[in-house]
Amino acid sequence: PGATPLLELRGLRVAYGAIEALKGIDLTVGEGEIVALLGGNGAGKTTTLRTISGMLSPRSGEVLLGGDRIDGIKSHDLVRFGIGHVPEGRRVFPRMSVQENLQMGAYRFKSVDAAQLGRVYELFPRLAERRTQLSGTLSGGEQQMLAIGRALMGKPELLLLDEPSMGLAPLVVQQIFEIIKEINAAGTTVLLVEQNAAQALALADRGYVLETGSIAMSGPAREMLADSRIRAAYLGEG
Ligand code: ATP
Repeated sequence: PGATPLLELRGLRVAYGAIEALKGIDLTVGEGEIVALLGGNGAGKTTTLRTISGMLSPRSGEVLLGGDRIDGIKSHDLVRFGIGHVPEGRRVFPRMSVQENLQMGAYRFKSVDAAQLGRVYELFPRLAERRTQLSGTLSGGEQQMLAIGRALMGKPELLLLDEPSMGLAPLVVQQIFEIIKEINAAGTTVLLVEQNAAQALALADRGYVLETGSIAMSGPAREMLADSRIRAAYLGEG
């Protein structure tokens, strides 16, 4: 790991009115890493991603990208900083075609980069086959691919993925995780939120576990995968 992490959260506190969702978390993502953020329902995973991408403002604490403060910058401006966010539930535009959805992902540029569109279609041949199809008619897995492809059209340096495996069949989950690995190998840093701890840790370099707004555990993914506490709490063992 280099001297300056690509992403750093320092003492991050985020609240919804009186509900404190993040109670001062510290987290780093090094350039080129895949980091898994695990935890049960309501632990604060989505809140963490929404704060990084500027949809929520922290009560206190800092978000740094490449060493620069970015908390307080609005989400549509953050795209310019190289952050791509694939939200929970995918949120593709159902009445637009696959290709129109991908074009929307390039909104930070003056025009759609045909080479980048080609790369996304290469990564997701299924999307290429269905480029004129209305997105609302795609399967769940295809919609997840589209949501990831749309984020890639913004050429992010850091990709935030919120539960990409949610509601998908095991075989499709495997495909999505393979593609995340490929995206990372091509140079994109990844912060992956997952309830599917075993598969996320198998893919990640390091992991963090959130519990009711605090980091309960962190470490190399390999060690976490072998940790009996994690096996008991998240892998349905013990
Ligand atoms: P999930 O897997 O269910 O999405 P999560 O780990 O992503 O869980 P968050 O969605 O970040 O958790 O929620 C963290 C806490 O903040 C929870 O207690 C939740 O009820 C609360 N919360 C989330 N969104 C809101 C909101 N818009 N208004 C009020 N409370 C919220």
